[in-house]
Amino acid sequence: MGQYYNSQKSRGFSRGGGRGRGGRSNYGRFSGNTIHESFFIKKADEIIEEEAYVSEMKFETLDINAVLKQNILKKGYTNPTPIQDKAIIPALQGKDVVGVAKTGSGKTAAFLIPIINKILANPSEKALIIVPTRELAVQISVELKSLAQGTSINSVVCIGGTGLGPQIKSLRYPHNFIIATPGRIKDLIERRAASMQNVKYVVLDEVDRMFDMGFGKDVAFLVDKVPTPRQNFFFSATLSSNIEQLFAKYLVNPIKIDIKTTDGINTIEQDIVRIPKAVKKIDILHDLLIKEGFNKVLVFGRTKHGVKDTHQELVNRGFKADSIHGNKTQAQRQKSLNAFKENKVNILVATDVAARGIDVMDITHVINFDIPATKEDYTHRIGRTGRANKKGTALTFVE
Ligand code: ADP
Ligand code: MG
Repeated sequence: MGQYYNSQKSRGFSRGGGRGRGGRSNYGRFSGNTIHESFFIKKADEIIEEEAYVSEMKFETLDINAVLKQNILKKGYTNPTPIQDKAIIPALQGKDVVGVAKTGSGKTAAFLIPIINKILANPSEKALIIVPTRELAVQISVELKSLAQGTSINSVVCIGGTGLGPQIKSLRYPHNFIIATPGRIKDLIERRAASMQNVKYVVLDEVDRMFDMGFGKDVAFLVDKVPTPRQNFFFSATLSSNIEQLFAKYLVNPIKIDIKTTDGINTIEQDIVRIPKAVKKIDILHDLLIKEGFNKVLVFGRTKHGVKDTHQELVNRGFKADSIHGNKTQAQRQKSLNAFKENKVNILVATDVAARGIDVMDITHVINFDIPATKEDYTHRIGRTGRANKKGTALTFVE
């Protein structure tokens, strides 16, 4: 069961890029968790090698707009992921789509490709995409830009944490996509700055998280604002009775796609790192980070202050680290996320909320510096590695 990931003697502190210890001691010990530590362990021999998925459809031969197709191929997407394989053709035919799929399964292109294709044929049409977090909205807008390159399609991102003014202004100009978080777009609709006229496509991404975050009512309010007939694309990693009710209310004879096997969790080796008494977690973290293979590491802390302190301490020790947490502005968070994405830093320290929905390729390790509050948080955290069928490692510090 409980293992030392690190042997005792490896804590000799051979500081790679370190500049000496900062001597701070405010890394509070977290007790009171209720998740048994065995939950955090999954050894390499339990890891299932996912078989390469054999798709029915190929992008090359898909009957879609030529520019869109070029853009897909330019991104290096040759074969569709399972959800893309099952969703795109029915969606092109106008069917509602329900997808039960975890992050990392390629949902974004699964809804963007058919919607872009339809809007290219009818440029007066609009799509509304509602997502739980600001980061996810930005991420989707980036994917949209690359898929719609060289076309006249444009989009407005409506998210909190940034000024209303510029969004109100952008909404006055023609746009085909509104990519939004629930609170902000609701606000903009109520101010009559955003119009749902001509919205023919509605995407709800990560519906379960929107419910978790208390946006359930807002989501229903928003879908109600969109005129019918429309085509709906609803995605959730899990289905609860709340969510099934919402889906049943709005969906017309949808195609249902359930992709359980691509949650990536099976490709993640998981272990605990026991922190001996009188040893600081930051020192164990330091030891791990200088090891070979810890190339791109996401470190999770429980509180904004803890995350800030860990980040600062790592920087003091000479590591290239950044952080995202709730005390940063949206612009600051995005900047840090980009630095991590673009490998300007190779360590990102984050709180749970700030990290939701981030899709950064090639994260080698997720380290739970603090134990997650719930099993769901754990799953979301470790799902940041092992993406797109790459192997990843998740380590949880246990005191
Ligand atoms: P989800 O929305 O399910 O979390 P994403 O749409 O963010 O998943 O996709 C996860 C990653 O996989 C992204 O980096 C994306 O660029 C990549 N990806 C998506 N579709 C394909 C494809 N058909 N081939 C290769 N990579 C893909
Ligand atoms: Mg997604």
